[in-house]
Amino acid sequence: MKEILNYINGQFQPAALGNTIDNVKPSTGKVYGTIPESGAEDIAQAVNSAEKAFPLWKSTPKEKRSAILFRLAELIKENIEELAMAEAIDNGKPVSLAKAVDIPRAEANIRFFANAITQFSSEAHHMEIGAINYTLRKPIGIVGCISPWNLPLYLFTWKIAPALAAGNCVIAKPSEVTPMTAYLFSKLAKEAGMPDGVLNVVHGTGPSAGDAIISHPKIKAISFTGGTKTGQYIAAKAAPEFKKLSLELGGKNPNIIFADCDFDAMLNTTVRSSFANQGQICLCGSRIFIEESIYEKFRDAFVEKVSKMRVGNPELAETKMGAVVSEQHMNKVLEFVELAKEEGGKVLTGGVQVKLEGALQSGYYIQPAIIEGLSSNCRTNQEEIFGPVVTIMPFKTEEEVLGYANSTKYGLSATLWTENLSRAHRMAEQIESGIVWINCWLLRDLRTPFGGVKESGVGREGGFEALRFFTEPQNVCVKY
Ligand code: NDP
Repeated sequence: MKEILNYINGQFQPAALGNTIDNVKPSTGKVYGTIPESGAEDIAQAVNSAEKAFPLWKSTPKEKRSAILFRLAELIKENIEELAMAEAIDNGKPVSLAKAVDIPRAEANIRFFANAITQFSSEAHHMEIGAINYTLRKPIGIVGCISPWNLPLYLFTWKIAPALAAGNCVIAKPSEVTPMTAYLFSKLAKEAGMPDGVLNVVHGTGPSAGDAIISHPKIKAISFTGGTKTGQYIAAKAAPEFKKLSLELGGKNPNIIFADCDFDAMLNTTVRSSFANQGQICLCGSRIFIEESIYEKFRDAFVEKVSKMRVGNPELAETKMGAVVSEQHMNKVLEFVELAKEEGGKVLTGGVQVKLEGALQSGYYIQPAIIEGLSSNCRTNQEEIFGPVVTIMPFKTEEEVLGYANSTKYGLSATLWTENLSRAHRMAEQIESGIVWINCWLLRDLRTPFGGVKESGVGREGGFEALRFFTEPQNVCVKY
């Protein structure tokens, strides 16, 4: 049994009240460890330690903060094998994916913001009457970072790195469903020489530890990634306290395929953009729209490829599809497949639970599903499923498909496949989403603004946007 501990004021400790929650391994459905069930007492302790650490951390030269972050990035790199396996065990994702994507990107996040803070500058505004304004960018103080289970270390570091680089002290909570790499990360932070109290990692459930973070009056900013409903709750709770909020929420992303695309490149990437991480990436394209003239060609080729995908033990190097994250999530995804059938959809492949053998027989495995025959406005095509389920639909015109693409309450990302440059730009501009990929997917430049519109979020992460979020601007006006 693996015991996870909170990291508060540089110490590893259980929850103040001594309670724990079971940590379940999705590939077997069995408990393999415990995590602290933290609450308001633990968050209060973490805030006290952060408050003590803040004066020194904010006045630490940025080069020194940067050096500590670089050491941390180096430690992530050195421990990639252990971290990738921990992610596979805790989340159910294939270890090959964790090794190729999650852990290297966690390292890249830390490295990026270690660099970015040394390049971050602010504005000056000269006035002709003989005055100059300059903007100070001051760290906010104590900030809360709350992350989801789908890309555990990757998204955890995406928030923590800019917050720390900018000179804030952090109270961070990973999802209770996937706490392991955040725990290992807290050990690496200590090893990297992060001063006590600067980073505090508190484990527990959303309604308990998470709520205590968003409610604490001394936590002045919240960076949250998770579901839209939770985001709404956090926004409502934090608004009366005037906390700064960055909310990265759900999505229902369109993948629009024109007949003139590079078919093979599109097909290979579409398999990935549909089912990578068992479809549990907020950027996965779950609604696939195909120009009518190639609809059948695409459908047949896509079904052929996807029906050959095999779920398997996430810990084995050759596995490409692992388990979904929890029993509750598996049941939710399977219920959506039933709903799709009730709504008149035809399941072309998958959509059923897979029972593996031996120790894996109680794991949470779903055969990836492709569904056709649904209307754009049915629930299956409007609500976020966040699993290995996609729908396919033909379209005739740009105008028609734009209507479909923009018809949901979400607006996180979109993918377009066409060789027609003018159309690509024309469409990109009209799609209501924070990110548009043209002839690619999940290609990330960490300098770019990341986030969604409509109910997919408020604010942007990434690059200097994140450093702006984690700092408070102060204008100083000097008359000469
Ligand atoms: P949730 O909203 O359920 O949880 C996200 C985090 O918030 C978890 O750490 C959770 O804790 C915590 N939390 C839950 N309730 C509260 C609360 N009342 N107060 C404070 N914190 C709380 O999302 P999931 O973990 O299920 O993640 C999946 C969702 O995340 C999907 O909707 C997906 O689209 C979205 N997502 C968005 C991304 C983006 O960049 N826009 C990227 C990745 C995912 P706990 O789990 O311990 O209960």
